Amino acid sequence: MTTRDALERLRRGWVAVSHVGVPPLSTGECRSVIATNQFMVYASLGTLPYVVFFLAHWPQMRQPAITATSLLLWWAIAFVLNSRGKYALASTVALFFLIAEMTNLAHWFTTASGFHYFLFAGGVLGFLVFRPSQWPIRAAFTLICVALFLVAEAAWPRESPHHEFAASATPILLVANVAMTVLLLYVVARFDLRYYEQERQRNAELLDAAQVAAQTDALTEVLNRRGIAPILSGIARRGDFALALIDLDRFKLINDRLGHGAGDVVLSNVARTLSRAVGEQGVVARWGGEEFLVAIPGLSLEDADALMERTREAMEAEYGAPDSLARVTISVGLAHAPRYAGKEEALRLADANLYEAKSSGRNLVVSGRLAVVDRD
Ligand code: GH3
Ligand code: MG
Ligand code: MG
Repeated sequence: MTTRDALERLRRGWVAVSHVGVPPLSTGECRSVIATNQFMVYASLGTLPYVVFFLAHWPQMRQPAITATSLLLWWAIAFVLNSRGKYALASTVALFFLIAEMTNLAHWFTTASGFHYFLFAGGVLGFLVFRPSQWPIRAAFTLICVALFLVAEAAWPRESPHHEFAASATPILLVANVAMTVLLLYVVARFDLRYYEQERQRNAELLDAAQVAAQTDALTEVLNRRGIAPILSGIARRGDFALALIDLDRFKLINDRLGHGAGDVVLSNVARTLSRAVGEQGVVARWGGEEFLVAIPGLSLEDADALMERTREAMEAEYGAPDSLARVTISVGLAHAPRYAGKEEALRLADANLYEAKSSGRNLVVSGRLAVVDRD
């Protein structure tokens, strides 16, 4: 196993541990559960050296060794609670025993040991592991932390009442505790930053997907009316353009013969053939029902007409066999318009031409040029 594999496994393991108890479909619970899980893993790793430190100085260190070990146990219990969906209880247990233990250690080793600085981080942690809707618990934890800190600072002596060893260990503990408190605050800040960065990215992706979905026809996967609207608005500003309205001939017969489901399949196949036939020269959209609109920028009337004629032939070649049950051909009304012409006028002409194609026998392209309107 290479180092990269090992790191990847470690990363996956970390993600799995962080997500213990996160419901697959939930987003609201997610942040506080992940935060509690990660906090407990970090904090357990941070507490282990203390347990070893206290045990190494057995028997004087018996009491703090026992309480620090019990803290690890409580975190294990909170982990199980999280995995069973008892999030608020898990977070309360995790934070309550941290606060209780740090207060106990501050009392044991005196405030000169700096254990009570963890109470600062305790208040901040409350904001991480509880959701905004659980603000009363957040506020209660902050108040308790502040009160305990003040009590420790004001009421407890800086001289160790317990034993000589505690006095000699005090400077080491102070440095370690200040460093750990700063580290904890840094981890909290980083968690918040990373979480919001991930959220921002996820929201941007969701927005993209929603925009694509809102502009795409679900059945045929070509643009819908909303999707082609900005193209129609922009196309006339860039030069001459053509709009082709396409209607499937006698499509009702297909529904009647084969059922609406089969009609849907034919419709989506037709849309694919249309898009392929038009290619890069135009943009296809479903205009409604069994009607499509093709926006064609920059071609002359003759070229646009030839493109639509090829499209009609492609459709006939693929679906037009006279003996086919699902026989389908298209009628096309094409309007060629000069730059800056109104899209409504062009659409009206395309519609009139489509009507003429239908009344002239169907499976036809009828084209026309929109008269240049002198706007002066
Ligand atoms: P014409 O050649 O005059 O256009 O005949 P037509 O049968 O195609 O026209 P008509 O307007 O009478 O019927 C259109 C049919 O298209 C009726 C409607 O049920 C069907 N249709 C519209 N949208 C859908 C759809 O999304 N799925 C299916 N399966 N059928 C649809
Ligand atoms: Mg039709
Ligand atoms: Mg129709």
